[in-house]
Order: sequence, then C-alpha cells, then structure tokens
Amino acid sequence: MNNFPTIGILGGGQLAQMLALDGYPLGFRFVFFDPTADACAGLVGELMVADYDNEIALEEFAKKCDYVTYDFENIPVSTAEFVAKRSQIFPHPKVLEIAQDRLTEKLLFQGLDIPVGEFYAVESYSELVFAAKSIENDGFLKTRRLGYDGKGQYRITQQTDLKELWKRIDGGSFILEKGIDFQREISVIVTRNSQGECYFYPMCENKHKNGILTTTLVPAKVSKASEKAYAYAKEIANKLSYVGVLVVEMFETQQGLLINEIAPRVHNSGHWSIEGAVTSQFENHLRAGLELEIGDTSMSQGFSAMVNWIGEIPNVALHTKEKGIHWHIYGKEDRPGRKVGHSTVVADNAQELHTKVVKLAKLLGSNIK
Ligand code: ATP
Ligand code: MG
Repeated sequence: MNNFPTIGILGGGQLAQMLALDGYPLGFRFVFFDPTADACAGLVGELMVADYDNEIALEEFAKKCDYVTYDFENIPVSTAEFVAKRSQIFPHPKVLEIAQDRLTEKLLFQGLDIPVGEFYAVESYSELVFAAKSIENDGFLKTRRLGYDGKGQYRITQQTDLKELWKRIDGGSFILEKGIDFQREISVIVTRNSQGECYFYPMCENKHKNGILTTTLVPAKVSKASEKAYAYAKEIANKLSYVGVLVVEMFETQQGLLINEIAPRVHNSGHWSIEGAVTSQFENHLRAGLELEIGDTSMSQGFSAMVNWIGEIPNVALHTKEKGIHWHIYGKEDRPGRKVGHSTVVADNAQELHTKVVKLAKLLGSNIK
C-alpha cells in the first residue's frame, strides 16, 4: 500500500463526507465524484462534478484513485464496472446490481432460505389488481429501482383507487409488498474483510416516520426472534463475497424475523458509531477495503442513540454543548424530507441514555419519546 492512498467515492453525499472525515486521521486522501456541484462531500475534499456516464471524467477520476467505493447503491452499475477496470473497487459492482433492484434483492434472500414478507412483481395494471387482492389491499407498492428514504413507495389500503394510482404513477416495474405487522425494526451492520471474516456492530433498533429513519437506539435488546439476525447478515455477506460494511434491515414480527432490504454501504442506522463505537462504521468500511485490520466494533460507552434532522438544521445545533450529545451538520441546504444532519447521544446506561435523548428531543423541539 502507498503511504497515502487515495480513495475515490462515487457519490458525494453525507456518507462520502463522513467516510472521508474518518479516513483523514489514517492518512488517506479522498476524491468524490458526483453529478451535482453542491454535493456536500465537496466541503471536505476534492469533488469532481460530472455525469455518471461521462467516461472521460471517470477515466480521470479512476487515475487519481488507488481504491474506489460508493456513497449510495444507485450508482449505475456500468459506471462502477468502468471504474473497476481501472482501479480497485469495493464492494464488487455485482453487489450494486443486486441491491438496486428490490426484486433481485428479495430473490437473493429467498435463495438463501432467509424469510421475507409476501411480495408480488407488478408490471401491469392487471398484475397490480391481482397482487392487491392477494395481500388483501394492505401493503406497499414500491418501485423496483431507485427508491430511497421511502421515495417511490405508495401505500395500498382498502381505500386506494388502483386504477387512478396506476395512471398517476404511469406504470413501470414495481413490487407489491404485504404490509408487515412488525413489533420493531432492526438493522445489523457487519464489516466483512476479503478473508471472509465478519465483525458485527451491536444490533440497532430503528424508528421510521413516513419511510424515513428518524432514530436509532443501540444496543437493541436481542429477543428470541432477533437472535438469528447476525446469522442472516453473515449468510448474505458471504454469498456476495462482500468486502466493506454491509447493512441488513429487518422487521421483527411475532412469527420471527423478515428481511426488508440490504444497503451495500455504510448506513444511516450506523451513524451513532462515530462516537458510540470504538471504531466507526466509516473507518471499518475503509479498513476492510484497504485490507487493514478491522477495528473493534463494540460500544465505546455502553449505550448510544442517533436522531436524524430531517428538512432543516435545528437552530439549537452549535449553540448548545451538552456532555454526551454530538452534532453533525452535513452542510446541505434545508429542504423538506432531506437528511441535513444528525445528533449522536452516548451514555453509560439505558436510563442515562433515555434522559439525554428526551433532553435532546426537547432541544430539537421534536416529540421523540
Ligand atoms: P431507506 O432508504 O430509508 O432504507 P427505502 O426507500 O429503501 O428506505 P424501505 O426500507 O423499503 O424503503 O421502507 C422504508 C420504511 O417503510 C421501512 O423501514 C418501514 O418502516 C416501512 N415499510 C416498508 N415496507 C413495509 C412493509 N412491507 N410493511 C410495513 N412497513 C413497511
Ligand atoms: Mg429501508
């Protein structure tokens, strides 16, 4: 390895920004590639602004990089493959191909005998009618591709006018998932290295509102149902010969776990690890890709929480300094539904964590319990 390897990141959002912030102390250098000139990773390093199909720009980008990784899973596979021919890349672009399509993703889980909720592929109005009937008109119609943060999803209920909906969304490729009556949502964050060794962060419990993650609490209590979660994540990571951080989102139901989806990258439910774990998910993703020893994934202080700021940066950020509460501002413009920053809370015990989270919620003016 060079003394100062340069790591390229396809996508220049907050995940790229936080990867760099945790990579700089290790002597790494960063170049980001994003089609938007105000991509927030540009605040902390060189940003190349070009479309993902601009081969001249990609060639130049790849030349600068010893290693390349991604900030989000919807980078075109052809872009990742083009770069992979010119630089080392992790995880392998074939992982993107699977994770970009909700149908191939679910088929992967089924192929591993990992339980998923009932779903139907929908390509036409008649398939939508059939599928909606099969799930008793209680579910979620999701675009197979390019969905994130609940975007590209439509709630189906008894009241939904399917004809009107199909016309409004103008057709396309979808899956219809049955609405899952879950007790809680959890995620498993695993770092896998090229030797196939898996290092797990403590299980995370996640709360969403309108399809967007709002809070994460760690460690989640491991119940009878959730004890299989780590094994499922390991099977998926092994099957994909994965290198880096992989996150598996799951629903815990009375009948056991159901896998929701994977994220082939660092993940919002792992942001707490910056202060809450001995080694953050960002550092470990880079360590895995550069074949360095993986850092300790245990809690730094016993308990941690993450609260997202969605839409706008709270005024209180920066003005207040509380022990155990940390502010992360991504430097993005405020916009409804946009993740613009987050707070991490760390505490020695569950009671203290609760007190601090309630205090934080009060500061933020939100109603987190
Ligand atoms: P993200 O990128 O934030 O993970 P996404 O757009 O990929 O979101 P999903 O993870 O599929 O979307 O869904 C977002 C949230 O919507 C889930 O975390 C869950 O709270 C709810 N949801 C999605 N599908 C279902 C379902 N079949 N039954 C019940 N709730 C669901
Ligand atoms: Mg999700």
